[in-house]
Amino acid sequence: MKLPSANTIAAITTAQGRGGVGVIRISGSNSKFIVNSVFGKLPEARHAAYGNFLDENGKVLDQGIALYFPAPHSYTGEEVVELQGHGGTAVLQMLLQRCLDLGARLAQPGEFTRRAFLNNKLDLVQAESVADLIDANTTEAARSAVRSLSGDFSAAIHDLVDGLINLRMLVESMLDFPEEELNTLDIERCGALLNDIQMELQRTLDTAKQGCLLREGAHVVIAGQPNVGKSSLLNCLSGEELALVSDIPGTTRDVIRQSIQIRGVPMHIMDTAGLRESQDPVENLGIARTHQTLHRADLILLLMDASQGLTAHDEAILANLPADIPRLLVFNKIDLIMDNNIWMNVQHPSIGVSAKTSKGLDELRGKLLEAVGWRDLESGSFMARERHLRALAQAQTHLNQGHAVLTRAELFAEELRLAQHALNEITGEFTADDLLGEIFSRFCIGK
Ligand code: GDP
Repeated sequence: MKLPSANTIAAITTAQGRGGVGVIRISGSNSKFIVNSVFGKLPEARHAAYGNFLDENGKVLDQGIALYFPAPHSYTGEEVVELQGHGGTAVLQMLLQRCLDLGARLAQPGEFTRRAFLNNKLDLVQAESVADLIDANTTEAARSAVRSLSGDFSAAIHDLVDGLINLRMLVESMLDFPEEELNTLDIERCGALLNDIQMELQRTLDTAKQGCLLREGAHVVIAGQPNVGKSSLLNCLSGEELALVSDIPGTTRDVIRQSIQIRGVPMHIMDTAGLRESQDPVENLGIARTHQTLHRADLILLLMDASQGLTAHDEAILANLPADIPRLLVFNKIDLIMDNNIWMNVQHPSIGVSAKTSKGLDELRGKLLEAVGWRDLESGSFMARERHLRALAQAQTHLNQGHAVLTRAELFAEELRLAQHALNEITGEFTADDLLGEIFSRFCIGK
């Protein structure tokens, strides 16, 4: 018998390919019917049961363990069954097909976690951190994703929202009085409460920025005149012969990217075409692309030749760099000079390295981290996304605007309301369906 059910979903939750064990997860009201048919019985709730997985004729497809998690005490909050069989592609596919034949539908990417979110098993920040934890490539990123998943980030947001609700209640009570009759003590109290929230918000934003950096990494562009050693430095930092190194100026005509990690922080480093006047149209295309890349960078590393010092040409490049993007001045080829002063005497703070001997590279790595805003937080960071940073910054703007209209209760109340709205978007209290669609579609199938 096949029960029609659009709401029961199934998927292979383990990674594709061969493995010792492969897991199929089923969620929805038909899970019990499916496990009864495949396994011949309903396992005791939350207890592992060993047995045969059967096809429609009662022939054994595989042997393994079945687990049953009754609603609402399951990952999704629904009736969930997990079938743990052998991790071969064919055997798992046969088992999955059997579940689909019994009325389950193939889960979409992230659909289990989406259901968990919709059933209040986790908030949006936690749901996102599930994907981040799976995607984490470094220990630091994994740790910070776990902190978000455990609710540390959500708790910080809830504290801020609680503070705002408190303040809003005070302000709402002032709305009944005309401006001139407002009690100065009340206004002072509002100001003090607002200050506390602003400080707390700043701390949360700083911590979230670290998490965002761990997740997204920083985009660093190496710029400079041809032949100063840009490609050599990129190779040296990445430990691979990636960019073409030669002593013919203009060798790097396109932008070469390489992602490296410095103390767990991903850095997407781009080596660019040397910035110089050229008659070669292909090289000029490369130079034009360099200018575009510079505008999108988080940090520009301007590389110069220590044996030449800061030349007029370097000064010209420096003057033309986008003003709003932080820069780090680095003199390469210090192995060629006896006297370090040649590069130390320039007005701008700079460091010296040698891509040839690796001298100064550790200091450079430290400076890179510092320049992209990495701080070793004692408490650790929590995983955050651009979306969260934008919402926090928006809340901050409303609080700042609120500060300016502290004595005008109506305007002040409105700014507080907007700030709270921005914060609630982070945890998903008010989140548009299309945003949910976008967030969950980036998950892998089976999660
Ligand atoms: P780019 O045009 O800026 O990318 O420069 P390259 O990386 O292609 O290097 C230009 C030349 O400088 C090559 O011959 C490199 O071997 C040489 N070079 C690069 N870094 C150093 C260094 O630290 N010391 C010395 N002595 N030579 C270097």
